[in-house]
Amino acid sequence: MLPNRLLLPRLLLLTSAALASDVSAQARVEMGGGASADSTSAVDSLRGKSGKLFARLVGARRDGPLRILQELFGDTATRRPGIYRADRGSRSFALITMLPFQAKVAGRIGSYRVGNWPRERSGNSDLPEGFIEITPNNLDTQVSQHFRLRDFLTHDQADVWPKYLVLKESLVDKLELVIADLQGRGIRVKRMAVLSGFRTPQYNAPGVRAGGRASDSRHQYGDAADIFVDNDGNGMMDDLNHDGRVNQGDARVILESVERVEKQYPALVGGAGLYRATGNHAGFVHVDVRGSRARWGTS
Ligand SMILES: [Zn+2]
Repeated sequence: MLPNRLLLPRLLLLTSAALASDVSAQARVEMGGGASADSTSAVDSLRGKSGKLFARLVGARRDGPLRILQELFGDTATRRPGIYRADRGSRSFALITMLPFQAKVAGRIGSYRVGNWPRERSGNSDLPEGFIEITPNNLDTQVSQHFRLRDFLTHDQADVWPKYLVLKESLVDKLELVIADLQGRGIRVKRMAVLSGFRTPQYNAPGVRAGGRASDSRHQYGDAADIFVDNDGNGMMDDLNHDGRVNQGDARVILESVERVEKQYPALVGGAGLYRATGNHAGFVHVDVRGSRARWGTS
């Protein structure tokens, strides 16, 4: 049974005026009290390496840009699980406060089944910090310019709400940097599709038995996504290298941008794998931020 406070309605919509004054207050704090700063600087500092993040996560570790988020949204919001939106027209921003990992009891959070993580009881130091509670109302929250929360959800239990999501903001930041790099090379990216983002251990396990998934897949930790560029929305990779065919060559175009991003931002280093088209999909690139370099399917 979840504590009562986790079941309370938890959407707080700040007015533009309230946010603007909070931002000014924070700008003064950040500038050491004396200097002046415009009201957008605090929000801009939250937008990640890509400059494209529209949301930041706070969990049990309470690390990251906590002080700015406390100033913008209030200390209570950084402690009470929920999604708090500050809407300022095109400059909207969200604070996502996660449920602690301990909200999972016997492989479930509420009615949503997630299963158990590898080595969960024997010292897996990589266990998720917490879960984002997803409802039909917050499903479309933009986490960055090109991605919404719904893009990363496990594809299961369609009728169970709320659902729960593990997501690392560094993954979203990296995906945005890959998009920016592609665009910088003259490749149009209006839409990057996520074939698979977070996979609960329960969802991941049957695939492992079939031999298709890693038992310790990074998808279980919210730091991996299988992606392809799909501007025309046909559910398949686009012809990125304009050779008249959609194949591994187009996945390779994305991989080249992953390489460039990792070179420029070593903190975002991780795995990358190319997957050829099968009966189930039309080819994609796996990208993660595991913290060490790994490559597969690239030769
Ligand atoms: Zn993958």
